[in-house]
Amino acid sequence: MEYRELQNRIRELVKEKNALLLAHNYQRAEIQEIADLTGDSYELSVKASKTEAAIIVFCGVRFMAESAKILSPGKTVLLPNAHAGCPMADMITAPQVEALRAQYPDAAVVSYVNTNAEVKALSDVCCTSSNAVNIVRAVPAKKVIFIPDKNLGSYVKTFVDKEMIIWDGYCPTHHHVYPEEIKRLREHYPDAPFVCHPECRPDVVALADRVTSTSGIIRFTREDAHRRFIVGTEEGILYQLRKNTPDKEFILASHGFICPNMKRTRLEDILLALEKRQEEIQLPPAIIEKARLPLERMIEMSAAPLSR
Ligand code: SF4
Repeated sequence: MEYRELQNRIRELVKEKNALLLAHNYQRAEIQEIADLTGDSYELSVKASKTEAAIIVFCGVRFMAESAKILSPGKTVLLPNAHAGCPMADMITAPQVEALRAQYPDAAVVSYVNTNAEVKALSDVCCTSSNAVNIVRAVPAKKVIFIPDKNLGSYVKTFVDKEMIIWDGYCPTHHHVYPEEIKRLREHYPDAPFVCHPECRPDVVALADRVTSTSGIIRFTREDAHRRFIVGTEEGILYQLRKNTPDKEFILASHGFICPNMKRTRLEDILLALEKRQEEIQLPPAIIEKARLPLERMIEMSAAPLSR
């Protein structure tokens, strides 16, 4: 089937089955093009939970579809490609969180939403890349165990005066981009601000004019007066940036900014997912119940967005 034909058939099925097609900002352009909603992972799950859709098709990676299920336990949540996982989320397991808790009994566990459901279920509060600083500040403990991203954790640490035990996890896509690449680009495009995601290494973050989430990058490049930007996150975001501000130029900060897991999902997978109702996310009710609490606490505790 031609890709336009595939897109049309998917849209027909979405309508027919009262489904909602979600695409993370890092998905392939041809998927973002036909999605009902695009955005950050958590924002998508929240929006989906407020709709009447019976089926959520989450084009992203597994932990995102799990979050959608946690917030919408009554809906069917489908992950079109069962192999789309997140290496960073898999860098910490529930037994490892239990061990941390035993080692630091007076510390609060703050987990980035990029974690699996079992890990969320053992956390005190979750955070996103937008609200991580505010959450760590607000959590009523002097000591914080921050999981799983050491880069986001290090970034947060520069803003808060608390003891932080930071887990040694990282996003391979963001972590393997180095300052030399950014410096070269900055010399070449001296007029272009460098805007990057806090999952980047601290020595890359130190070179940034703005550090923010994917939605923050979209907002910043739209509102800022510059005409061109060096973009420090996964390449899928270029689709949104060019769509939102076609008159501006966006230079990807590295050829390495491609997440193989985010690119696993193809139009063919979405079609099959809708036709065969696969792969359905199944989580034990007890995990859903426990994992929901730190997400709800995050909503209560988050206030102003993170920026620098
Ligand atoms: S970009 Fe990084 S954090 Fe996001 S899904 Fe890929 S590996 Fe995980």
